[in-house]
Order: sequence, then C-alpha cells, then structure tokens
Amino acid sequence: MDESAVRDLLRRVEDPDLGDDIVSLNLVNDVSVEGDTADISLALGAPYSPHETQIANRVRAVLADEGLEANLTANVDDDLSADEQILPNVENIIAVASGKGGVGKSTVAVNIAAGLSQLGARVGLFDADVYGPNVPRMVDADEVPRATEDDTMIPPEKFGVKLMSMAFLVGEDDPVIWRGPMVHKVLTQLWEDVEWGHLDYMVVDLPPGTGDAQLTLLQSVPVTGAVVVTTPQAVAIDDARKGLRMFGRHDTNVLGIAENMSTFRCPDCGNEHDIFGRGGGAKFAEDNDMPFLGSIPIDPSVRTGGDEGKPIVLDEDSETGDAFRVLTENVANNVGIIKRRTQQ
Ligand code: ADP
Repeated sequence: MDESAVRDLLRRVEDPDLGDDIVSLNLVNDVSVEGDTADISLALGAPYSPHETQIANRVRAVLADEGLEANLTANVDDDLSADEQILPNVENIIAVASGKGGVGKSTVAVNIAAGLSQLGARVGLFDADVYGPNVPRMVDADEVPRATEDDTMIPPEKFGVKLMSMAFLVGEDDPVIWRGPMVHKVLTQLWEDVEWGHLDYMVVDLPPGTGDAQLTLLQSVPVTGAVVVTTPQAVAIDDARKGLRMFGRHDTNVLGIAENMSTFRCPDCGNEHDIFGRGGGAKFAEDNDMPFLGSIPIDPSVRTGGDEGKPIVLDEDSETGDAFRVLTENVANNVGIIKRRTQQ
C-alpha cells in the first residue's frame, strides 16, 4: 500500500470535535510507508487528552484492518519558531484565572495539574500568585528548588508535577508587597531560569483579578488558553466577566468556565445542598458563548486534601475526584480543539 492509499484510509477517521475527517481537516502532516509499517505524523497538540487519544487509536485500528502497523508522531506547526519563543519546550500553557480570590482557583489549578499528570502527561505547575502563593502547601512540597552551577533552578516534583512558586523564594507567610515592575521581573525570571525540561502542559495559577501578573503573563508567554474559575453567585460571576474581557483584549483563548463550590455534598446526610445557587457557571458560559468545563461541589475533603497535600483528583474512590477528572479531561480536550483549529 502506498502513501496516497494510506491517506485515503485515514479519511475514515473522524475528529470527535471538529466535525470532519482528519484528512479534510488538514491534520495529517506526513505519511511514509515501508513494508508493513506506516509512519504518520498527525497535527495533534494535546497529549493524553481523551479525544486525541481516541483519534490516534482509531488511526491504528483503521490501518490494522489493512494489515499495517501505524507508527504515530504528533506535531502542530504553530507559526512561532523556537528561538522566538519563551519556554520553547513547553507545548501548552494553561492559565487558571478568577475574577476574585477565594473561589478555589488554586485548588482547581493544582487538581488540573495532578489530573493531567495522572493521565500520563509531563506537567509543570507554576504558582504565579505572587501575592498569596499557596501551591507548595496544597501539594505538601517537601523540597525546595535546587540551584545549579549556572544559576538556574531545578524545580522540585510532586505527583510527577514540576513545581515552581514564589513561596519557595520568599516563604508563604511573608506578606509580599510587589510593585508592577518587580512582579514582571520576578515572574520572567521564574520562567526563564528554571529547568522545566520538556513539558506537555504548564498550568499557571494566576493571582485573582486583572493586575500586573496577569498582564505580564499574557504579554510574555504564548498562553494556549485560560480556565476561568467562578462560584455560582452573581458577584463572583460579575468578577469572572472582567477576567474574560481581559483575555479577550489579549486575544487569549478561553478553554472554558469551571464552576467551583456548586453544591454542598453533606458528609452526614449524603444529600447535596445548593449554597451559592445552582447552574450559575453553566449559564454564564452559555451567555458568553464559552465552553462549560464542569462543576465541583463543596466537599470538605477538597479542603483537607489541600491542607494535607493530596489533591482529591488522585483519589479514585471520591465522587468529587470524578468531577475533577471530568474537568481535567475537558480542559485537555479543549486544548486539543484550539491546537487542531490552527491547522484549518
Ligand atoms: P483561590 O485560589 O481562589 O483564592 P483556594 O483554591 O485557595 O482559592 O481555595 C480557598 C479555600 O477554599 C481553600 O481552603 C480550599 O481548600 C477551599 N476550597 C476550594 N474549593 C473547595 C471545594 N470545592 N470544597 C471545599 N473547599 C474548597
């Protein structure tokens, strides 16, 4: 079978999100056939996302039906040449944002990072919440970064996630009063002087609001997309709207809206109670024409997980863990949609 015959076969593989086959969608970069093996390069950009895994499995199955073994690689060609980029070895940058504090933004960032790592991806978690860095506590990081002879830092790892946080440098309890230019300088150093290695995803926990750190991030690194965290009440949603506008002004994709503290899952009676209202996040997403990523209930074990350093997404027996796993999968799938759309 020759290359064009293989390309024809690949027309049988549908993209689960973009509504056409992968050849028509320009997602097949290269095909070469040698004996019973076809080397195929696909324009897939969200490693370990369920939908891209599904595409890859389907490609293997379609070729196997014709007695061919598929040897797959993935590469999305996105205009930026390596030397133009900051963080050239980081494939996707996911910013986690909220309009205001206390809605669970850091909790969501930590659980998405741990959830992506659990799926098999290489993940970094960058705590850019310079005013209240608390990620090291949430994951109970027992190590601090190590300095190398070249004055770079090796980030500690937890659950397979590489971590970097202002808290490593200034301590969690020191109130940090930063002015704009300092925020810019410190954040830039933390990106550039850290040995992140190759990452499939870097999850960035932004400070709440629309201040200097957010702007530094949007101006200096290629953010693939943002997750906007809100609670269902109207006030939190008004703040989330400001966040959306900020991303809109910078042409940053929004991966979707995550609703935290949706209902209260009562450990005593087993029932769910609406405390902050219900469905606000989904409606907000719909009104703004954004994907809705999922709802996370108020569950005391989210907080104890945060205090004890074990993200609940890693707890296989927890229903709230399930909710975080769904959220993580939706985030990864939506990263894939953004990446594959660049090929159109
Ligand atoms: P933010 O980053 O938005 O300021 P945090 O993630 O630090 O918020 O969360 C604030 C507090 O609320 C933390 O103590 C956290 O453990 C707790 N929390 C967050 N989400 C939940 C939830 N779904 N159920 C219970 N507690 C939560």
